[in-house]
Amino acid sequence: MTEPPLPDLPFLPYGRQSVEEEDIAAVTAVLRGDWLTQGPTVAAFERALAARVGAAEAVACANATAALRLAYSALGIGPGDAVVVPSNTFLATASAARHAGAEVAFADVDPDSGLMGVAEAEAAIARARQAGWRVRALAPVHYAGQTAPMAGLAALARAEGLALVEDAAHAIGAVDLSGIRDEGGGERPVGAGWPEVEAGSLTVFSFHPVKTIAAGEGGAVTGNDPALMARVRRLCNHGMMRVPEAGQGFADPDAALDAEGNANPWYYEMAEPGFNHRLSDIHAALVLSQLGRLDRFVGRRARLMALYAGRLAPLAPLVRPPAPVPWCRPAWHLCTARIDFEAAGRPRAAVMAGLRALGVGTQVHYIPVHRQPYWRRRYGDLALPGAMSHYAHTLSLPLFPAMADGDVDRVAAALERVLS
Ligand SMILES: *Cc1c(COP(=O)(O)O)cnc(C)c1O
Repeated sequence: MTEPPLPDLPFLPYGRQSVEEEDIAAVTAVLRGDWLTQGPTVAAFERALAARVGAAEAVACANATAALRLAYSALGIGPGDAVVVPSNTFLATASAARHAGAEVAFADVDPDSGLMGVAEAEAAIARARQAGWRVRALAPVHYAGQTAPMAGLAALARAEGLALVEDAAHAIGAVDLSGIRDEGGGERPVGAGWPEVEAGSLTVFSFHPVKTIAAGEGGAVTGNDPALMARVRRLCNHGMMRVPEAGQGFADPDAALDAEGNANPWYYEMAEPGFNHRLSDIHAALVLSQLGRLDRFVGRRARLMALYAGRLAPLAPLVRPPAPVPWCRPAWHLCTARIDFEAAGRPRAAVMAGLRALGVGTQVHYIPVHRQPYWRRRYGDLALPGAMSHYAHTLSLPLFPAMADGDVDRVAAALERVLS
């Protein structure tokens, strides 16, 4: 069925990082300096990230899984509580809530966009309350680089007294247009948050190499509430504070303050047990350098997606490129084609193998999390038909900034051959 790949064409993975000489120079400069773990480069990255996404503050951390855990725990989410998580996501959005002691109320998603909307979130809240759980937060996932309909979800969170934890692992650089609050016409960059949600609003990013900008391993939490962000920062670093906090009681009353009332240099105190989820300056140097090219990356990905739309059009209705939702300016992370494998008479595994033989790598995002054995043992079999339909048809095609325009032709031609 498939001819061998042309020998001079490199294999196209579904995604890959773009590391340039300026990134390497930034990392080696840190290695030649005084700080390897948290030093001035982490602080500089936190300032640059907060400014870029329009948040008051950012806390950098080891990865997005840690960032999710810090966000849930800083909001005080724990046993007896529940977090609403769309089933079409990576494991970590749900696992981090469970590690905090909470239950996960899995929500369905739109079968085309893979996003959780307001109706799906409402249904999950109702199921959770039926189970006797105290619902504490919505955790929308900005799947593939498009935003969930945030204005509606923020209004729901407000009405129900819930916090918002946006999983923006896919979506740095995306802009949500669903709101009407801002003078700027309701544009809100992902990460700017929803301060009008009184129960708290935090956004989580990933800098894993397949995501839009890379740290190697890295993540961040952004937010606007100083007290909430202080707790995120404290939990990230052993629950430790350098400056005594009034009313907490001192670890060593004699050592806490010097004669002028300032914290003594060796003093630290712990108000609650925390983690070591810190990012290192080495990783921060890489991701800070990459952040400077974010607009280029997002622009290049948008251009490739426009090419895909044109080149895949003749393959309709068997193959459809991801449908843009009207309420955002996406920062495409994945090209999640929707393929009717049944109508093509080719199972997905055969399509993937055929594409691989032609030098085209693909991946599936995601097996719905509620189907994982751990969650099925815990909650039984949930019926989330949107997530199952999305999963049955999705295939992530190569998308990364270093792809040439002609690579899109190659992928489309390979798909045509494998499906015919
Ligand atoms: C990658 C990813 C994560 C986890 O990110 P890490 O930085 O690898 O921990 C969480 N949620 C989503 C949606 C992701 O894609």
